[in-house]
Amino acid sequence: MSRVLIRIGGLLIVVAVVYLAAAQMIRGAVNDRVFWAFAGAGATSVAVGIILAVFGRGVAAVVGRSCPRCGRRVARGRVYCDDHLQETINEYRDQERKKGG
Ligand SMILES: [Zn+2]
Repeated sequence: MSRVLIRIGGLLIVVAVVYLAAAQMIRGAVNDRVFWAFAGAGATSVAVGIILAVFGRGVAAVVGRSCPRCGRRVARGRVYCDDHLQETINEYRDQERKKGG
């Protein structure tokens, strides 16, 4: 859900920027209202998406009912499902190894 919002928001911002460039080239003038409608909607979607992502992760960490990566239900007190728990541990190990050189 949050990822979709961020994607849509990003897309809207891209559309706004493309519109800005296209309008400048084709007409030589930009309709500010159209630009800000796209840019505003895009920024709002991204902001809501990020809030949802942060909020969702916080809830998942506290409740531990569904995996934040795949959304699968997990046992109480757990954050990730079995697959992603292992994956997360492996990733963490890799990061630590990189830090150590
Ligand atoms: Zn998972």
